Amino acid sequence: MIAAVLFDLDDTLYPQASWLHGAWEAVADAAPDTVDRAAFLAALYLIAGQGSDQGRIIDRALARIDACGTETAPLISAFRHHAPARLEPYPEAVDVVAAVRERVPVGLVSDGDVDVQAAKVRALGFEQAFDVVVLSDAMGREHRKPDSGPFLAAAERLGVVAQSCVMVGDRPDKDVRGARQAGLLGAVRVRTGEYAAEPDEDGCLVTLDTLGEAGRWLLARLDAHGPPAPGARASSTWLRPR
Ligand SMILES: [Mg+2]
Repeated sequence: MIAAVLFDLDDTLYPQASWLHGAWEAVADAAPDTVDRAAFLAALYLIAGQGSDQGRIIDRALARIDACGTETAPLISAFRHHAPARLEPYPEAVDVVAAVRERVPVGLVSDGDVDVQAAKVRALGFEQAFDVVVLSDAMGREHRKPDSGPFLAAAERLGVVAQSCVMVGDRPDKDVRGARQAGLLGAVRVRTGEYAAEPDEDGCLVTLDTLGEAGRWLLARLDAHGPPAPGARASSTWLRPR
């Protein structure tokens, strides 16, 4: 019995590349005139393409274009303060979260700089979409997924036991492994974004190509357990299993 569903943010509910594109442009704009903007931007894309969560991307990009002496504080600030007015969620993402929420409480569990992640939530229009939002960096960077902390915190704040939660996410090493280590019911993996080609991990209930498919998979199981909770809105016509 699924009592709550937790969602990852980056590359699960929207393509993170769309945010990174604007962020790297902002970083390049913040560089001094001594730095070749086009070469720096190309280096940022190249280094980030090797893994956007590898860290020190700005330093490594500067090193690549022989601009190591450049002051990095303004560049890091430009990255952290990049706050686009609007980001586009994946197709069906808004409907998936809303339809699941008609049945059970939903949480967002996301790693990354707190201000950056909060800006993404706003730009995506997800401020009111979840019953609880857990940004793991607020607990300390050491609690980034797959640490159990953020999963257990989300379950506790939703008032459900962790063993009855399902995690939906794109990263086998973070979302799937984290769900398993935290004792969740399991994870629904979506093969979207930067890590789509990564092999699966133990703990996957199912692996699907899109969030829409994940939503239909979840709703089929949630509805098999009975009607929506009392007080839930009339069921949307969207997301009937195909
Ligand atoms: Mg992700």
